[in-house]
Order: sequence, then structure tokens, then C-alpha cells
Amino acid sequence: MTRVLRSAACLPGVELGREQKHAIGLLCCEKSEPAALKGSPDAQGVGQSKGRILLGRAASELESGMQDYNYVWADCFEITLELSCCKYPLTSELEQEWENNRESLLSFIEKVHIGVKGFVRDAVTKAGLENTTIVVAGIAHNITAGKYGDYHRLLVPGTYNVTAVAVGYTPLTRENIEVKEGDATEVDFFLQPAVMAPAPNLTQLTAAPAPASTVASTVVQAEAPSPTSLHQPVQPVDFRHHHFSDMEIFLRRYANEYPNITRLYSAGKSVELRELYVMEISDNPGVHEAGEPEFKYIGNMHGNEVVGRELLLNLIEYLCKNFGTDPEVTDLVRSTRIHIMPSMNPDGYEKSQEGDRGGTVGRNNSNNYDLNRNFPDQFFQVTDPPQPETLAVMSWLKTYPFVLSANLHGGSLVVNYPYDDDEQGMAIYSKSPDDAVFQQLALSYSKENKMMYQGSPCKDMYPNEYFPHGITNGAQWYNVPGGMQDWNYLNTNCFEVTIELGCVKYPDAEELPKYWEQNRRSLLQFMKQVHRGVWGFVLDATDGRGILNATISVAEINHPVTTYKDGDYWRLLVQGTYKITASARGYNPVTKTVAVDSEGAVQVNFTLKRTDAKVEEGKAPVLNTPDTSDPNEKEFETLIKDLSAENGVERLLLSSSGKVSPYRYRPYKDLSEFLRGLYLNYPHITNLSR
Ligand SMILES: [Zn+2]
Repeated sequence: MTRVLRSAACLPGVELGREQKHAIGLLCCEKSEPAALKGSPDAQGVGQSKGRILLGRAASELESGMQDYNYVWADCFEITLELSCCKYPLTSELEQEWENNRESLLSFIEKVHIGVKGFVRDAVTKAGLENTTIVVAGIAHNITAGKYGDYHRLLVPGTYNVTAVAVGYTPLTRENIEVKEGDATEVDFFLQPAVMAPAPNLTQLTAAPAPASTVASTVVQAEAPSPTSLHQPVQPVDFRHHHFSDMEIFLRRYANEYPNITRLYSAGKSVELRELYVMEISDNPGVHEAGEPEFKYIGNMHGNEVVGRELLLNLIEYLCKNFGTDPEVTDLVRSTRIHIMPSMNPDGYEKSQEGDRGGTVGRNNSNNYDLNRNFPDQFFQVTDPPQPETLAVMSWLKTYPFVLSANLHGGSLVVNYPYDDDEQGMAIYSKSPDDAVFQQLALSYSKENKMMYQGSPCKDMYPNEYFPHGITNGAQWYNVPGGMQDWNYLNTNCFEVTIELGCVKYPDAEELPKYWEQNRRSLLQFMKQVHRGVWGFVLDATDGRGILNATISVAEINHPVTTYKDGDYWRLLVQGTYKITASARGYNPVTKTVAVDSEGAVQVNFTLKRTDAKVEEGKAPVLNTPDTSDPNEKEFETLIKDLSAENGVERLLLSSSGKVSPYRYRPYKDLSEFLRGLYLNYPHITNLSR
């Protein structure tokens, strides 16, 4: 089918779809109807189209145009489409242009199947006869059969006499062939060798034509579903370095294939305006479920440290493909709202190079700032201007009630936990109030990664470096003022660690399956840590409603966390017994003693009574009240509405969060990356040639 699609196009004058007529009618609105049309031999039908379709010479005097060349010198029927009165419309109009033309573009492709088709064969040997001429009586335009004797003659509905003429054979005419609307009528010709035919020479004998069935049965094979069983989760298969467009298509593809558990959104834009994509994976995407903790992974903050980016794409594939069949994945996705940002520095990534071991090209963002030195610091004044990527992540962190996070880097092999710097700027252990929790979190990752756990990574580069059990306090290793993990801990309820995934920052693509193998258990194990410690609700004793922004304090740990809109909270803790106090403005605090086990999380709810403060007449007491207009829910509703609307083929590729428009102009590099991305993501139905 490929050959035909490439070489044949629509017949001028065929009955067009409603949309086509409409579109062409609009497009040619300013041109006057030609009084007399002088057309090609295949131009019947044009006269009836009331001037909406113009013949070339009537529209403009084009010498040596492409469409005529197609028709006269090849078997291809080409027409030229004028799509819009405006040659280079505004980006905002592109979506409308797509709407105007989508059906037309598809129905035009379908026209490749109209008319008559079949094979011309030697009546004796049944071999296909290449270069046979196909003649339609009354139309002075012949076409030629292909390599296997296959031919395709576009024709509008009607009755035709068709003749096949091949050198050395007696011509054969099939009369009264009925051509109907829709698929082509199949007509095969078996030509008798002429009496005077020259004996076939040796080359003809040896070069046996491929059997016709090869052509006829060319069917696109759909990817067979991978076998699944309860104990054998499906592993990812998509191992390659994903450049931006490729990654974009990958994400859209998974968002489309798994709409029940995914939502693709953008947390903002890079300096060069690339989207900072986030894939949400949850059994209720787009919704914060009361009491369900939120988790995030961020990769590729340093553009040339790419392993995290690929691992996170692998993880998305893994979670999507195993949800519903693998108990571990199903459980995790049902109980956790997971957000995955594969690349925080997409601009830097495009500058970095495969094979980079310990370099810095592409490390920084496009303004040449190190994003992991760009966050406000507790000890030092960060003088670099805040970067768009940094600001986007900061506002992202304020939008969702994240509980746990990891920031994936490369260049070493260790989990690094807060604090990342100390007051003197010296390389000494800088303890956070939650040091025990952070150590446990870090160990949950390193324990599952054998090489990391051994603690002596990158011996060729740093022979004396040793990290017991593959973890380290950030500042003890080296000072990172302005780092992201400390900002998470000091400004939000989120606990974040920084994970170095390997000594080579940008390994060769063939190494990628190895990284997945080394890290897949760790990635899952770390996510499960979000279900540790204490969680529950802080409720108003009077009406039972959740109290927003109530404070949860743990005695002897100077790090309170706050409740979300349903009064829900999560406090990560290691095994032990704790005195936990819930307090809120306008309420009497409540303290409880809680035992935390070595596994799982304990639910502890607090019901707070309003204080007896005298309420002035007509004035409500000041209370922490839940936020009733959650922007996420609104966004979700819009998304659902969009998805329910009929939007046919573009659902496959284009639909995503309304924020990220697929309708835009693409400069050459972007365009070629997009095409490459399509090919890489849909290898079974595409081929990219140059
Ligand atoms: Zn890094």
C-alpha cells in the first residue's frame, strides 16, 4: 500500500466531501468563476462543481508547476490546495485551520482507493508484467503498471473499457467495468504472449518476480500485546535518548493510551519556551483525593545529566503498562498521586552530548545558570537572578501538597539528603531536624541498587570517595548553596533527596537498559516511602469539616507540617513513639501520643474544638477554612469536557492538557525533531526517509 500512497493522489474533478467543497469554496471566494474550462483528459466533473474548484489555467498562468509534471510525466494525480486566504496566519488560528481541513485531508487520502486496480500477468507463467500500459477508452491519459504488474487507475464512478498493453503480448480489453463510489473495482489481466515474442533471456529468468501475494498481503502489523501475568510485570521497551519532541510525543502517547490513570500537564516553560512537562499518574488523575499523599520525581535538572530523564520515561511506561495487572504497581497508583517531571532543564539537554562523562556542556539552563544553585538559601544570599525553570518549579510546589520527592542527577552514584550546605560553607555534616527520616528515605533507595549500596562509585575519577551504604549528607559531601532539596524541605511540606544515578552523565544509549535494571526496584521502593509515618485529618469538632492550614508538630522535631484543604496531612517519621500536636488558629490544640511501626503509616485524626473567644455580633470567628475553589479541579473538569468531545484522529497525538497547544509554528529543527519523534514512537506505521 505504501507505494500507491506515495505515488498516487486524487483525481481532479472527483466528487468531493462536503467539507472539501465547503473549504475550497471559501478559499477561492475572491476568484471569479471561469466562463469556459479547458481541462486535462481526466477533468470530468469539474464543470458541475459550480466553480468552487478551479482549473489551473483558469486560476493562474502557471508554467512548469508541480502538479502538471506529476500528471504528465508520472502516474501520479496531483492537485494544488489553497488552504487559506491568509498565507501565514497567527498561531492562534492554527487550531481553526486544522478543524477546517481535518476531514478534507483524510477524505482526500481515501481517494487513492477509487477507480480500478489489479495485476497484469503473463497468462502462462503468471508472472507480473512490469511497465504494462493501462488504457481507459475515451481518456487520453495512460498509466503504467508497477514492478509486480500491479496498477492503480483512479476513476470516478461510471462504466469503462480498460485495455492492458504490454510489449510481446497480445493486448487485452476488459469491457463494461463498473466503477462505484468507494473502493476500487479489482480487475486482473492475463496477457497471452504474442506469437512473435522474443525468447526470454537469462536475466529475465533468474530475476524471478516476487509473488503477487507479497504485495496484496502487505498489512500493517499491530504491536502484539506483551504477555502479562501477576508475577511478571511488563518491563519497558522504549530505551533510547529522547530529545524534546520525541519526549513530548512519548508523553502525549501515554497520556492518550492510558487516559484513566494519566494526565499530562506543564508546570511552566524553560528560557527557550520548552514546556516543563509533568505526567501525573493516579487512579483519579487531575484530582487530589482526600488523605492520598502526593509524590514527585524530577529529572534532568542539569541538562547533561540525562539518565534520570530516561529512567522517568521508563517508569511512566512501567506504571502505565502494569497498572491493573501487577499488584505492586496497581497498589501504588491507587494509593498515591504521582507526578513525574522527566526534564526540568530541556534547553540544557538539547545542548549536551551523548558520551559526556563528567563534562559541563548543557549543565546550565539557557541563560547559563545552574538551576541547582538558583533556589533561595537558608544561609547564603543567592545573587543569580531566579530563572524561569526555578520559578516554575517553586510555584508547582506551592500548587500541590507534595509529601515526598527525589531529584535525579548524574556524575556519581549516591543518595544525597539535606542539608546541602552549612552556615560556614564548610564540608561538614549539616543536620536537618528530620535527619533520621532523611537517612531512612535515602537508604530505601540505595539498598535496592547494589552498586550504589557498596558505596565506592566512580573509582576511576574519585578513587578515595566512599559513601557508607550509598548515602551521604549533602553538606558533608560538598556545599550546594541554593539547592532545590533544601528549599523543598524549608518552604513546603515536601521532603526531597537528590539521587546521583551513575558516574557517566550522558551514557551511550545502549547502556540505558542497564540503568533501568539497576534502578527499577529503587525507584518503586522510594515511592512507597510516602506511606510511612503518620497521616490523617484535622477536623472541626462543630461541623466535622477539614481544617486547612492546621499545623502538625512533632515534639522534639522542629519541623511542623500543615494540612491541605480537607484537613489532610502526612508526616513522614521513622519507627518510634511521638507526641504529636495539631493546632489551628481559632481552635484549641490537641496532642496525641502515637506509636509508629517499622512499616506502613498510622492514621491519626485530630478533632479540634473552637476556642471560646467571644464572638462579636455579626462577626464570624477567624478560622482556618478549606479552600473551595481548587484550580486543579477546574482544570480537571475542563480536561474531561475536552476529552468527551468528538475529536477523532488527533486524540491519538494531539490532545493533552489545554495549556500545551499542539497547534504552533515549528522552526526547521523543531519540525524535524517532531517528525523523528513520530517515527520513533510509532515505528510500525511510519517511516522517515530523507
Ligand atoms: Zn547534577
